[in-house]
Amino acid sequence: MTRHPAPLPENQAEKQCMLCGRCLEVCPLFAATRREELAPRSKFLLAQRLEAEPGALRAVAADKLAALCLACGRCEAACPQGMCAPSLVARLRARHPGWQGWFWRQWIEKGAALWPAASALSGLAPAGLMRKGRPAQALAGLKALRPAAGIAPWMRVAQFDKPGAGRKAVVFPGCLARNLRQDWTDKALALLAGLGYAAANETGFTCCGCTLGHAGQPAAQAEMQRRNLDAWRRAGRPLVAVFCATCRCGLRAYPDADLGWEPGEATAWLDAIQPLSGLFGDTAFETMPDAAPPRVHYHTPCHGAGGGHDAAWLRSVAGNRLHTISDGRCCGMGGVLQLAAPDLSRTVAGALWEFFAAKPGEQVLTGCSGCVLQLAATAPQGVAAAHWLDALSTPT
Ligand code: SF4
Ligand code: SF4
Repeated sequence: MTRHPAPLPENQAEKQCMLCGRCLEVCPLFAATRREELAPRSKFLLAQRLEAEPGALRAVAADKLAALCLACGRCEAACPQGMCAPSLVARLRARHPGWQGWFWRQWIEKGAALWPAASALSGLAPAGLMRKGRPAQALAGLKALRPAAGIAPWMRVAQFDKPGAGRKAVVFPGCLARNLRQDWTDKALALLAGLGYAAANETGFTCCGCTLGHAGQPAAQAEMQRRNLDAWRRAGRPLVAVFCATCRCGLRAYPDADLGWEPGEATAWLDAIQPLSGLFGDTAFETMPDAAPPRVHYHTPCHGAGGGHDAAWLRSVAGNRLHTISDGRCCGMGGVLQLAAPDLSRTVAGALWEFFAAKPGEQVLTGCSGCVLQLAATAPQGVAAAHWLDALSTPT
């Protein structure tokens, strides 16, 4: 899975698409639309044509078409040439950022003020207003910022394992938890303490920067990376527990960036970044049957393919209650694509919901903040979508 949200690497320019078509088999945009012009190989062909003959195509229009991408990274993992569409798209968006890139940067950088305000305002919209079309979709997106409705904890810790052995651990909350879901961070800290870590609330972290890179905002991305690295250094280089797959992917990409690493520090950083559910060791969990939904589904985040810890843990706790796992399917979040092409985002989400065939009363859990928002905004009536932390009670 891609670790390259930053601009196109030097050696990428030497790679050539062989038109083998393997990327078409995994691209969720192509799968949902069957539009060849949206497929990864079309993006590379367009980019190659523009580089070979700069005047052959209208550059702005071609760049915009090529930039219609979810940045899921599935094509890179499938490509025998290692062609990386998210890196290409980041470069194209940086060349023509437009209002979407600017807006996305404000949305992330000023999230502490904007997100709570947008969440509160969405609750004031009169019922029945904006039932259809893009205004209704935008309103649903803002309402998804609010805490998950229809989810009460139905899993709990029965007996802690203590793998932490007193090591210092902090939580990297990511934008959604930092701005609106403090309860996720509190729950993660309580879990770390129960696991025997010296859990500390590190407030110096900011956005991982991942989606800023994809949005063509490399300077803003680099600034976030520097701030997070500095916070980690100040905290004494502790273990960093992460419960958002996209954050984890973004953080693990830091060694690719020139951040003034000290000798051995990049390796220590990679060792320190750990998925929260991967730290549970032999901790015993149990379900609370009276509170549990009849069926649960799990959406595997595109950027979580390198981990898989969340799904394995949920399967071990939920047992047969866990019905469907969406490996290999994207929710359509796509970061700035929400602004550039919201209908495409919706089309991809529709394909995922068709796959789940979830019924009222059922839940879809996931392990990525962006996926939580997209799933909550697009869920069928009566189906709850949330982070798995929402379904786990806070250990006491
Ligand atoms: S990153 Fe994802 S959406 Fe974009 S071209 Fe590759 S597979 Fe398709
Ligand atoms: S998998 Fe790679 S080489 Fe094959 S068509 Fe897609 S981008 Fe080109």
